[in-house]
Amino acid sequence: MPDPVTILPDTPENRELTATVHPADWVNPEAAPSYNLVVIGGGTAGLVCAAGAAGLGAKVALVERHLMGGDCLNYGCVPSKGVIRAARAVFDARNAGAFGVRGGEGITGDFGAAMARMRTLRAGISRHDSARRFRDELGVDLFIGQGRFVSPESVEVDGVRLNFSRAAICTGARAADPAIPGLAEAGYLTSETVFSLTELPRRLAVIGAGPIGCELAQAFARFGSRVTLVEAAPQILGREDRDAAELLHAALVREGIDLHLGVKIGRVVGRDDGKIVILERDGDLEEIAVDEILVGAGRAPNVEGLGLEAAGIGYDPKVGVMVSDTLRTANPAVYAAGDICSSYRFTHTADAQARILIANALFMGRQKTSALTIPWCTYTDPEIAHVGMYERDALEKGVEVTTLTVPLSDVDRAVLDGETEGFARVHLKKGSDTILGATIVARHAGEMIGEFSLAITNGLGLSAIGRTIHPYPTQAEAIRKLADAWNRTRLTPTVKKVMGAWLEWRR
Ligand SMILES: Cc1cc2nc3c(=O)[nH]c(=O)nc-3n(C[C@H](O)[C@H](O)[C@H](O)COP(=O)(O)OP(=O)(O)OC[C@H]3O[C@@H](n4cnc5c(N)ncnc54)[C@H](O)[C@@H]3O)c2cc1C
Repeated sequence: MPDPVTILPDTPENRELTATVHPADWVNPEAAPSYNLVVIGGGTAGLVCAAGAAGLGAKVALVERHLMGGDCLNYGCVPSKGVIRAARAVFDARNAGAFGVRGGEGITGDFGAAMARMRTLRAGISRHDSARRFRDELGVDLFIGQGRFVSPESVEVDGVRLNFSRAAICTGARAADPAIPGLAEAGYLTSETVFSLTELPRRLAVIGAGPIGCELAQAFARFGSRVTLVEAAPQILGREDRDAAELLHAALVREGIDLHLGVKIGRVVGRDDGKIVILERDGDLEEIAVDEILVGAGRAPNVEGLGLEAAGIGYDPKVGVMVSDTLRTANPAVYAAGDICSSYRFTHTADAQARILIANALFMGRQKTSALTIPWCTYTDPEIAHVGMYERDALEKGVEVTTLTVPLSDVDRAVLDGETEGFARVHLKKGSDTILGATIVARHAGEMIGEFSLAITNGLGLSAIGRTIHPYPTQAEAIRKLADAWNRTRLTPTVKKVMGAWLEWRR
């Protein structure tokens, strides 16, 4: 039987979640003499590997030491998006005056109720990742316990040896320890503990203005926390275009978040009036007193205790397991997928890599991860979504670029929705309609970026988007308007003159 796990708070919904993803009465199966595939880690990458391979007829063992569903279900996408949605409802209710809704101004959120809603939804969603489903419906041998390699062709879990012809390392990543003096003693939250809160911290410091930090800072502020967001870099969401990040920056400040960029946290001290975060900037010190500190700065790959040396697998404690473009490790029988080996730490990347892994590990495929087109989205308000190259990437590669931007204030639906903050932007290879990359800043940018992902993945140019009828009025019309803008750039004075002469002649 596995060690019992309690997901806090100890409520019926969390008990239901545990019963689904880490059943206390689970009995590991008897190991088969050998497996086509042994998968270590039951997060997105591991579950897609195991389900996909078993569905194709492979004999599969899956080893998970903690919770099936991994980060995404338990501590990541699912709970965060549940809380963000609730915070958005509070924000919208409070700001509905412009739509003729009276009485919203003083509305406050009920954080406890929002967290309870999230727990209920998470427990419901968890059935897709259920231990019993993998055993009973998919025919996977599920072992709950810590897996580790004991030789180049075997893994051990709870003293049981699993022999494989291929193995998949899908052990993911965790919140990195930020090594700030005094932080551990003062105590802090990470993505693994923040979703267990039942009461709203009155004052919250969020360390790191990457996607996780920005999303949660905004959500907590909307519920009424006094949020301080601290970032060492000079810009939030460092990899996004400066003007995209600035739009979000302005929105966060407007919502009352105290943003400190380009600062270092010297140390943290526990005092009677709270946890004191001491910021350093150019030799100046500033003290901020908070009730809780949430660390959202960086992820560390789960390479420890895996016995990678015993299997001849190369790794770096900061970067993760080293893989080739086809996801193969230094051991030709062992592959990896997901956060453990990817610099694009997203659920959809873990999923896409797992599919490549199945093809390459079990069917002698040669699919390459470098061929993937990976979009992403930060689920703030407005959302910032991106796919493909940024202008700087193209310039670094010596590719000349034409960049077109349509502000949402030019899009009727965005005007009617009162959501004009943002833009759609595309980078084209100069002199052609080849789409190199795109960024969308909009309330539902994550829903819109898929059109560009489809185009890039399938080699469709911007003119194909221009020929596609988009329903009016939608915010996605911004994308079609980019194609119109591109067509206008092709209307050179000579082309205009020739067309004018033709029309004159036809009159
Ligand atoms: C707060 C937050 C919000 C996020 N939001 C989004 C989002 O909106 N969209 C998005 O695409 N991504 C998001 N992510 C990222 C996403 O959760 C990860 O990219 C995804 O979970 C990676 O899946 P994985 O399978 O590689 O790893 P994981 O989900 O981390 O799974 C790895 C599993 O391996 C297990 N394991 C580790 N070592 C062993 C071992 N030795 N033996 C047995 N089992 C082991 C772990 O217990 C874990 O269950 C978010 C992450 C966080 C933290």
